[in-house]
Amino acid sequence: MNRHARLDTSPIPFIDVAAQRRRLGGAIDEAVARVMAHCQFIQGPEVRALETELAAYCGARHVIACASGTDALLLVLMAWEIGPGDAVICPSFTFCATAEMVALLRATPIMADVQVDTFNLDPDSLQRAVATAKRLGLKPKAVIPVDLFGLPADHDAIAAVAAEHGLFVLDDAAQAFGAAYRGKKLGALGAAAITSFFPAKPLGCYGDGGAVFTDDDALAARIKSLRVHGEGVDKYDAVGIGITGRLDSIQAAVLLEKLKIFPEEIVARDRAAARYSDGLAGVATVPRVGNESSSVWAQYTIRLAPGRRDGLAAALKAQGIPTAIYYRKPLHRQRAYCSFPVVDGGAPVSERLAEEVISLPMHAYLDPPVQDRIIAAVRGTLAN
Ligand SMILES: *Cc1c(COP(=O)(O)O)cnc(C)c1O
Repeated sequence: MNRHARLDTSPIPFIDVAAQRRRLGGAIDEAVARVMAHCQFIQGPEVRALETELAAYCGARHVIACASGTDALLLVLMAWEIGPGDAVICPSFTFCATAEMVALLRATPIMADVQVDTFNLDPDSLQRAVATAKRLGLKPKAVIPVDLFGLPADHDAIAAVAAEHGLFVLDDAAQAFGAAYRGKKLGALGAAAITSFFPAKPLGCYGDGGAVFTDDDALAARIKSLRVHGEGVDKYDAVGIGITGRLDSIQAAVLLEKLKIFPEEIVARDRAAARYSDGLAGVATVPRVGNESSSVWAQYTIRLAPGRRDGLAAALKAQGIPTAIYYRKPLHRQRAYCSFPVVDGGAPVSERLAEEVISLPMHAYLDPPVQDRIIAAVRGTLAN
């Protein structure tokens, strides 16, 4: 028999949302049907129940469910009255939403660099970015560390720099809800944290959704008002300028069901990541998770020697294996963000990572035989 005839090239999903749907389908359909029956589509009982469950899960005092992770970022920055003349320091190697809401409020995002082994904000670069902001005549107000690909940033070191300069810390845990840092779940770190329930995130709903986490009572109250048009005690006597930033009851109902299996899914993701790392350590730079952290593996991202990435992506594609590149350009190279200041000394690590990273299929339902096929394909290509 021809060897090639036996090579399995059937398509593998990058994230298998359908596998989870098969597991939970009935329970989710029933949960959604309950909302259809009571018809409280906005601020229904599921929203309050979800906020309570999320708070218990991560240990935050307040959880405010939002229409998206981006709205969650916006609401926190609005509540802190971030605006023109203020600088907010962001890593350049992230999804654009991190800096986008800063810019939307006419404040200035300063693009800082990341660490090569964690892809997360470099505390030394944060320190330099504060100086850059001051040199430009801006007031450094806040920092938004991102827990990229599900791995917590270096939160203690970032908190120390933030304390030195009086910066608010807003943890962008859009990709990392469920991960822990020094025994604390994300959501419980920083003055506030946010996450996203976009379907491809580790805890995703069936549309857009997000949440704010904080222990600060006054901040939580302001965000709850801003989430609903700046409403006062009387709904029709507005006390602030806000947005429509609520999570739908149907999405809350979906999330309540998914939250029940989330801890198991995190274990499955961690097992899949370990299997990748065992299989690929010799041929690529595999992700490193320090003893102080756990990752929820929103992405499993390896680094390759310069020039090898396109060839690997094409070879895998031919075998039915999808890959993705998060991110091909750091923020400071993107058209919408290239005119904002970059930290003095630049962000060379962000630029280098943009050339070297590639992400492999990752989800909680990645079967070992499928994963072995991916590992063999990567090894087979990179060994040549
Ligand atoms: C997904 C994401 C967001 C935005 O979340 P949405 O729910 O899509 O608005 C923000 N920051 C990071 C790092 C993200 O990955």
